[in-house]
Amino acid sequence: MTSPGHSTTTPGTVYLVGAGPGDPGLLTRHGADALSRADVVVYDRLADDSMLSLAPADAELIYVGKQAAVHAVPQARINELLSSHAEQGKCVVRLKGGDPFVFGRGGEEATHLRERGVPCIVVPGVSSSVAAPAYAGIPVTDRRYASSFAVITGHEDPTRRQSRIDWHGVAHGADTLVFLMGLTNLESICERLVAEGRAAETPAAVIERGTTPGQRVVTGTLADLAARVTAAGMHPPALIVVGDVVRLREQLAWHDSEPLAGRRILVPRVRRRPSEIVRLLKAAGAETAEVPVLLSETLPAPIDLIERLHAAEWLVFTSPGALEALLEQLAESGRDVRSIGGARLAAVGPASAGHLRRCGLRVDYAPETAAGFAGGFPAPIATVLLIGEEGGDPHALRDLAARGARCSELPVTRLTTDDRAPLPPLAQFDGIALASSNTARRLLEAYPDGPVDGQVVVSIGPMTSQTADELGLRIDAEAQTASPGAVVRLFVERLGAPPPAGLGENPSRGSAGGTTV
Ligand code: SAH
Repeated sequence: MTSPGHSTTTPGTVYLVGAGPGDPGLLTRHGADALSRADVVVYDRLADDSMLSLAPADAELIYVGKQAAVHAVPQARINELLSSHAEQGKCVVRLKGGDPFVFGRGGEEATHLRERGVPCIVVPGVSSSVAAPAYAGIPVTDRRYASSFAVITGHEDPTRRQSRIDWHGVAHGADTLVFLMGLTNLESICERLVAEGRAAETPAAVIERGTTPGQRVVTGTLADLAARVTAAGMHPPALIVVGDVVRLREQLAWHDSEPLAGRRILVPRVRRRPSEIVRLLKAAGAETAEVPVLLSETLPAPIDLIERLHAAEWLVFTSPGALEALLEQLAESGRDVRSIGGARLAAVGPASAGHLRRCGLRVDYAPETAAGFAGGFPAPIATVLLIGEEGGDPHALRDLAARGARCSELPVTRLTTDDRAPLPPLAQFDGIALASSNTARRLLEAYPDGPVDGQVVVSIGPMTSQTADELGLRIDAEAQTASPGAVVRLFVERLGAPPPAGLGENPSRGSAGGTTV
């Protein structure tokens, strides 16, 4: 087996990559590198599968994890998939949750590849066994409480007679015990540990979906943890931590104390364009779902494209993808940015302005807020060409025309909804973020009944709000500056709880259970 210290990816090789426990930021750089060059990705159920988008758009993604009511793909079949693709000269990434060699059957796959003579590189991952406790504020060792920890499978029912696990040894072999795959057997595991001599008052915790925005933690003791977990209705993936270190959570909890922890926000998103709102929401601890998924396609260039560009005294870019699409249209006829002519340039919204500047274009007019776009437009207002999404923001057009501009529109992109993406029920979200008029429209197409009571609907600015208004879509708050940061601040204001005193449990926001330890 080769060491993972390769930065180039070799065809015909299988990369056994640890995806980390859930937080996509915990994927290693080697892992990301291998994914970005993969021809085939063979993956299990992951706590967050957004990292699959690191694979090239034409990579084949093969899911081999368990599906509700459907059995997992047999291990022999997975082994075969890996070796046969590699033998065809493909670069294969086998992506597994956590670390591939910690209860991941990575050893079996590596052995199979070895036997077939297929090169295999192992890229270790951050294991949930240490990372989920860390995100819950539980260090697995601590000089004051624990000088050893053990990771044990909880898959085996301890009441079974012929257990392969030495339960006496487990109970006494390490100070901190971490059980993976043990949620179903939680009650019998706790009972067995007590029967083997661990004190019934030993602190213990269950961590559900550790390191993700949906992380939930329930603490208790070996005596009462199972009942508390049942009351909270916890589901896999979850692990169990047993030992005095669990006490430290009371002081050290940090992840589930972030302002939007436990909150779920829906953000309709355009595929390929990474959403800054989503990034900031996640940084504030929120869980996001990016649906409906919208596809932005570049429209064919009109025959008189150049004439129209050159006839305008102002070119106004009304959406962040507009410039890129215009450049694509120019490229169709072998032209480039030099053909846009000598018009002055304006941008609606800071994101659009940023795109222009990054392409080396000076922006002559880009107000801080989109609200006053037409009002502050430099005089004399003359011939204006609005370049952006088809059906984008009719208000900009209307307001400029009202001020006497001769306006026309050049739609360069069209949004369509990707019907393949499954839609979760709208009611499960605490908030909805609308970043444009078009996303407001698409949201209502996907969810004709609109937002439910109590849901906080935030609009990025007045144009989006006006469209929403016309559609009969309720808006609860509008960002002061049309920026992603302003949108996220509104969610924190409306949905964020103040940091809990002492950073302890905060049952009101998902951390069900109590502070009994
Ligand atoms: N190789 C993985 C473990 C695979 S076994 C690793 O190193 O993390 C799968 C078990 O891991 C689950 O049943 C659960 O007990 C645990 N697990 C994985 N991801 C988890 C997460 N985000 N939060 C809590 N437990 C997790």
